[in-house]
Amino acid sequence: MKAEADPNLIVYFNGRYMPLAEARIGILTHALHYGTGVFEGIRAHWDERAQELFVLRPQEHFERWKRNCGILRIEVPLSCQELCEVALELMRRNSFRTNIYIRPIAYKCAERIGVAPDEQDAFAIVALPFGEYLHAEKGLHAGVSSWRRVEDNAIPARGKICGAYTNSALASDEARRRGFDEAILLDENGHVAEGATCNIFMARHGKLITPPVTDNVLEGITRDCVMTLAAGELGLEIVERSMDRSELYVCDELFFTGTAVGLAPVVRVDHRPVGDGAIGPLTRRLLQLYFDATRGRLPAYRRWLLGVYQGLPTCGQEAAGLVETSVA
Ligand code: PMP
Repeated sequence: MKAEADPNLIVYFNGRYMPLAEARIGILTHALHYGTGVFEGIRAHWDERAQELFVLRPQEHFERWKRNCGILRIEVPLSCQELCEVALELMRRNSFRTNIYIRPIAYKCAERIGVAPDEQDAFAIVALPFGEYLHAEKGLHAGVSSWRRVEDNAIPARGKICGAYTNSALASDEARRRGFDEAILLDENGHVAEGATCNIFMARHGKLITPPVTDNVLEGITRDCVMTLAAGELGLEIVERSMDRSELYVCDELFFTGTAVGLAPVVRVDHRPVGDGAIGPLTRRLLQLYFDATRGRLPAYRRWLLGVYQGLPTCGQEAAGLVETSVA
């Protein structure tokens, strides 16, 4: 789904809440020319039953964002707790009662020509209604891209750096033009890295396998949720190891994970069925667990959620060490 934003949407920009239509940057902005920004993606799920909007692991997303900003030496002047409060305030001001995607972005904001960055930084946070990103109800057909994943020594994939998403855009465009739903990128060693906007898991011989964070992938928070649920609720062994391309063709089950995609089953890769070509049993169970956990229906995972309207666990609790955090 493409999220077209309402110009009256209230966003946070240059330290103020304002309508999206007023939040504008200049054409010479450094980040526009050189990709010198770092963004984040956070989901909030509306649960009709609880009449609540649950933000998923906001503290960890903001922590990751601030750390990744450090790669580009971008300063975000608010604490994670303050950023959580801005995110909540945005959702309340917009009176959202539907699934939401929150997009923080920090960037080099000097308006001049010249690639070497200076110390001028800015940031914004936008929250907008956002449904399914990939329509994966029946399972996706993924294709291995001819583009290679950016290497850590070129532009770190773990960084959610704006410029690196040219790599994802090239792969996504190619995949869609070839008739696939999503791309799978290999790294320069030929190992499976991830999807254009998501991490990847396969089930083989009863184990769940995913590339390690040192194989040029984003250290996904959904990846961590799924590993935690798979181990804690299904007792599955999870192995983080390099994956060969051909394993995509012989595995039993395959799925993507990510903030936008959630957990998205893959039923075909490069025109070959995954397993018997239907969504597999492990994937189905994990889909249900992920759905329930993100809607506040599994008490053990309530610690991941921040309620927008009822103020469930406050985000400060994780920072204060009161609630376990476990980002991969
Ligand atoms: N890989 C890439 C390249 C991504 O853009 C994303 C989305 N943020 C992910 C993986 C999944 O990460 P997360 O689960 O933290 O959203």
